Order: sequence, then structure tokens, then C-alpha cells
Amino acid sequence: MRLYGGIEAGGTKFVCAIGSSPEDIRSEVRFPTTEPAETLGRAVDFFRQYMIKTRNRLEGIGIGSFGPVDLDPGSPDYGKITTTPKAGWAFTDLCHTFEQGTATPVILDTDTNAAALGEGFWGAARDLRDYVYLTIGTGIGGGLVTHGKPHHGLIHPEMGHVRLPHSREEDPFDGICPFHGDCFEGLASGPAIQARTQQPAESLPAYHPVWELEANYIALALTNLVCTLSPQRIILGGGVMQQTQLFPMVRMKVQLMLNGYIHAPAILETIDQFIVPPRLGQRAGVLGAIALARQTFHPKG
Ligand code: ADP
Ligand code: ZN
Repeated sequence: MRLYGGIEAGGTKFVCAIGSSPEDIRSEVRFPTTEPAETLGRAVDFFRQYMIKTRNRLEGIGIGSFGPVDLDPGSPDYGKITTTPKAGWAFTDLCHTFEQGTATPVILDTDTNAAALGEGFWGAARDLRDYVYLTIGTGIGGGLVTHGKPHHGLIHPEMGHVRLPHSREEDPFDGICPFHGDCFEGLASGPAIQARTQQPAESLPAYHPVWELEANYIALALTNLVCTLSPQRIILGGGVMQQTQLFPMVRMKVQLMLNGYIHAPAILETIDQFIVPPRLGQRAGVLGAIALARQTFHPKG
């Protein structure tokens, strides 16, 4: 069995694993994200120790990272986290650190693109070629897979920062995005809900009026994604979507907003299979990174 490394590089925690699929994880480690040298050092050690102990080599290591990241192989900053506001992490060189430290080829993508790919390999988007994975948590981010591959384009999608109609009569909240104020993330992320209600999102009851507002913003964003990207499915994950009452609310609002214009059974009839929760659970990030390594380094033939 060919083995791959996967790294979920998150702003609060790192998860590293070695294996080939959800049924074949040989080793796994999780630790908090501190400063870059210490954090990356621990991750490099994990892979090195495994290779030394088992005398196995890895075909490649996939990284799904918080961003923004530079994914353009022609750029001098390729393989780095770029302009993150996270203290100490701006222009941290991920690819080079792991290539040097483990003598293994490395492929980097955004955390959401990697999670999207993992859901396509083993989860809620199996056998689909064109779909979106959106996470609504501490931030809001989206991954896009087209023709079976993560989409980059100019940089990579930043779906959390789309602008949405915001009625200040219905919702006087200004929003908390440091760049845009009331973009999607500024209005609808977990911390935005907390800032608006003065209570942690997870402590609010299912009947709290903020969920109606939340479902409205999510539905507006999804409507825009449907109209711009025409995905075959949209997977909605992240801590906020633990409020499962949001799913039927969002589905109904998307149908109302599109108003019959997108003439597809997936939207008109079976929208409960079009807007869905993820299936990979706790390991989605790191499995996505392994999927990325497999897709990139799996020898042909
Ligand atoms: P991260 O985005 O940091 O990777 P999560 O996806 O778990 O992590 O998102 C954390 C955010 O989700 C926090 O703002 C938290 O308040 C919110 N959250 C977590 N659980 C719930 C819940 N059950 N209901 C509503 N919000 C939640
Ligand atoms: Zn923003």
C-alpha cells in the first residue's frame, strides 16, 4: 500500500496523519498552533520519526492550510502562507520546510480546497466533478472543485468575503470583518453571531431569532454561488452548521431566492441532496490533505 502524509494546518490546531484513506490511517497527531518554528518543527518530527521507525517512505505530503496562501508555482512566494494577520505567520514557507525536513515532495492548497477534495474522494461529494465545500466557523471559507481538481485561478476563492445585501433596519449590526465590515464572514461567522447577540453561538437556543437572520445570509451567499459557479452540490460544514435546524431553513430560502429560474431537479425537487452536511467529520481536514497528496503523487499506470 502506498502511503501519504496529510497536514491540516489550522489557525488554532495542526493535525498530521499518515495513511492512504479513512480506513487506513497508520499514525496521527494533533497539537495547538503556536509560533511557526515550534509548530512546523513538531510536524516535521512526526513524519521523520514515522519514516525512521517503520522504514517506510511517503509518496508525498499534502497540506491544507489556513490562508491566504500562494499556490502559483511561478511565484517567488510559492508554497507560503502570505498576508495572514495571524501574529508571526505572515510569509511562513510551508512547502520548503516540509520538503527539506522530510525529503518528501509536498503539495499545498487551502484548507477548504483540501476538505472539498476529501469529501469528493470519500464523503458527501463522491463521484461529483464540480462542487463547493463551504465552512462556517471562526471564519467563513469555501473550496471549489472543478473537473475533479481544486480550483485556484488568480489566487484561490475567498467565498467568505462576498458582499451580501444587508438591511440595517432588519439587522443594525455593522459586521466584524477587519477588511470589509459587513461581508458574509463579517455578518455570519461564529464570532459575528457572538458579537451580535453577546453570547457564544453554541449557547443560543435553536429558536433564537438570530438563526433566521443567519439562514438568510447563508442562503444569499449560496444563491450567488449557484449562479456564478453552477456547482452540482454544496457541502456546508463548520461549527455554526452544528445548528442543524439551519439546513431546512437555508434550503427553503435558496429555492425562494432563485424563484424557479435555475431549472434543475437538484434545486427544484431534491434540494435536500444538493445542500448537505459533510460526511468526513473530525478528520475531514487531514483526510482532505491526504486526498490532495494522493491526487498529486499517485503514480500513473
Ligand atoms: P474553526 O473555524 O476554528 O476551524 P469551527 O468550525 O468549530 O472551528 O468553528 C468555531 C465557531 O463555530 C465558533 O465561533 C463557535 O462559536 C461556533 N460553533 C461551534 N459549535 C457551535 C454550535 N453547536 N452552534 C453554533 N455555533 C457553534
Ligand atoms: Zn471580509
